[in-house]
Amino acid sequence: MAKIKYYYNTETCKYEPIRATKKALFLNVFGFVVISLAMALGIIYVYRSNFTPIKESALRAENHELKLNWGILNQELQTAYDHVEELQFKDDHIYRVILDTEPIPSTIRQGGTGGHDQYAALVNQNLEDPALVLTAYEKIDDLKKKLYIQSKSYDQVSELLTEKEKIWASRPAIQPVNNKELKRIAGGFNPKRFHPILKKILPHEGIDFTADIGTPVYATGDGTVTAAYRSTTYGNVIFINHGYGYQTRYAHLHDFNIRNGEPVKRGQVIGYVGNTGRSQGPHLHYEVLYKFKAIDPINFFQRDLDNEEYEKVIELSRKETMPLDY
Ligand SMILES: [Zn+2]
Repeated sequence: MAKIKYYYNTETCKYEPIRATKKALFLNVFGFVVISLAMALGIIYVYRSNFTPIKESALRAENHELKLNWGILNQELQTAYDHVEELQFKDDHIYRVILDTEPIPSTIRQGGTGGHDQYAALVNQNLEDPALVLTAYEKIDDLKKKLYIQSKSYDQVSELLTEKEKIWASRPAIQPVNNKELKRIAGGFNPKRFHPILKKILPHEGIDFTADIGTPVYATGDGTVTAAYRSTTYGNVIFINHGYGYQTRYAHLHDFNIRNGEPVKRGQVIGYVGNTGRSQGPHLHYEVLYKFKAIDPINFFQRDLDNEEYEKVIELSRKETMPLDY
């Protein structure tokens, strides 16, 4: 029940109840409601300005962390990207150059970009910083393509290398007589040799290595013995087919160490220096043929000789011009 307020009436000298009008009463209540509402709004405004709700604050912190991590992820992807580009460079400019083959065309290396359509769903998510996420996805896609092409390229390089190893191993690339046991080179390669005894042009299509009878003779490259027999001119002679167009011949041998049809490895002892056939003294007559045509064997000795030894061989071959076979 509302309290009744009184006032002192000086005219009647009595306390009389205050009778409020309806208007005054309404204004009173309305004023109270307005002031209360204003105070409530003021409190909410001050609170929101100074205090973030705990849940929202946690989400903001998480969002900040996520953006930070996406940034780091992009940096790491860039590092991986740079490494792949280094591998591509080595592949194109070192491995493929050594193997004498063409680099992978840049159009194949770059591949298709795939466009932005595949990321439409991502963009439509209305992310705060879509470029951050988009860049990472694009880099990952690009990396996957580059790595796939690089792995295929390595498969090809590996096959080429295996083939090249076979070619290199087969090539007649060493001296058939050890340089330490070599006394001299009696006659060099000379397609226009005039023979002093026979008085006619008689090409000397090999090199004569003078060494003692019984000095080991080595196969100069991997291959297969296609002939090992006694010839009236060559004496005991061995023919080796190295494949890829190369053949070698070893003549005037004292003895054989292999049989016809036998596979041989570079550096394997196949026979011994002798003085058989049309020979004027103990020596090895050595020939290199490419596509059935004799070529100068001097060009094939680099692999097992140091500079000094190589110069010695060149000097020996220049000094002596008279072959020991005829
Ligand atoms: Zn000769």
